[in-house]
Amino acid sequence: VSERKTLCVIGLGLIGGSLAASLKAIGGPWHVRAADRRRNTLEHALRGGFIDEAAESLEEGVQGADIVVVATPVRAIRTLLTSLGRLLQPGQVVTDVGSTKRSIVETARRELPESVGFVGGHPIAGTEFSGAESAVPGLFEGRPCILTPDAGTPRESLEAVIALWRSLGAEVVLLEPAVHDRVFALVSHMPHMVAYSIMNTVAAELPGREAELGGGSFRDFTRVTSSSPTMWRDICLENREGLVQALDAFSERLSEVRGLILSGDGEGLAAYFQRAALARGKPWLT
Ligand code: NAP
Repeated sequence: VSERKTLCVIGLGLIGGSLAASLKAIGGPWHVRAADRRRNTLEHALRGGFIDEAAESLEEGVQGADIVVVATPVRAIRTLLTSLGRLLQPGQVVTDVGSTKRSIVETARRELPESVGFVGGHPIAGTEFSGAESAVPGLFEGRPCILTPDAGTPRESLEAVIALWRSLGAEVVLLEPAVHDRVFALVSHMPHMVAYSIMNTVAAELPGREAELGGGSFRDFTRVTSSSPTMWRDICLENREGLVQALDAFSERLSEVRGLILSGDGEGLAAYFQRAALARGKPWLT
């Protein structure tokens, strides 16, 4: 008979709500508790059956919880870690789902007592929607989940968090926080900035309804611009160094292709596209 354990999600949005809903869906050992600044959100989740208990306060939320998962935008994760430092008991495990890792891991090291095990986390799953009403049970199934333990992370805490994500079908990948931030600056944060800039460019150049004529590729490029502005503001502020470097590297490539277009270099353009196709595993022109 499996022992009943309590998991507390702080911030019941898309990711926190999906985590809660996924845990309820697999029917594992978890008693799922949530703390959120909006009472409505908690009531919606209770009615929907994706949490077992709504906490009245942060303090009540973390009390006796085996694992605490902080699932707010990244700057709020850091503020909450500071508050949690005073509320946690030895042996409790804390993790998060934030899209940046270096500053969060540093804050946890500084603000949490050594007797509390912190494991930085970032599930690579999501949608452009936000809020608990968009929660998707099974969201993490078959998706990677990055964990960023460091030398101070107790082994049992890491094992508990690995087991949690694996129980939801996620594939756990361990990375150093700085490596995580550099990689995600390139594969996620910079592309989102490009999407926002594409949308703003088109809206400025075509203020009428002509933009609606754009086809599938335009919709694909700009889909993510409906993501939560707070979430993206925080990601930019917490991964400034990595993101600025990634944007500089992108600007160089953009200047390269601009130069080829300006000079009418058809061969150069074909080679430029071929390079990208090859990198994506589709060598069209060989
Ligand atoms: P979300 O749907 O907007 O949910 C955020 C939750 O945090 C909401 O319950 C929100 O409450 C609460 N919150 C916001 N600011 C807060 C504050 N200052 N103090 C306390 N609670 C606050 O966002 P999400 O998409 O779930 O993202 C949550 C985290 O997961 C972020 O760190 C994000 O970087 C990361 N992440 C997101 C994705 C994705 O695709 N969406 C994927 C992987 C990781 P209110 O409703 O009151 O604002």
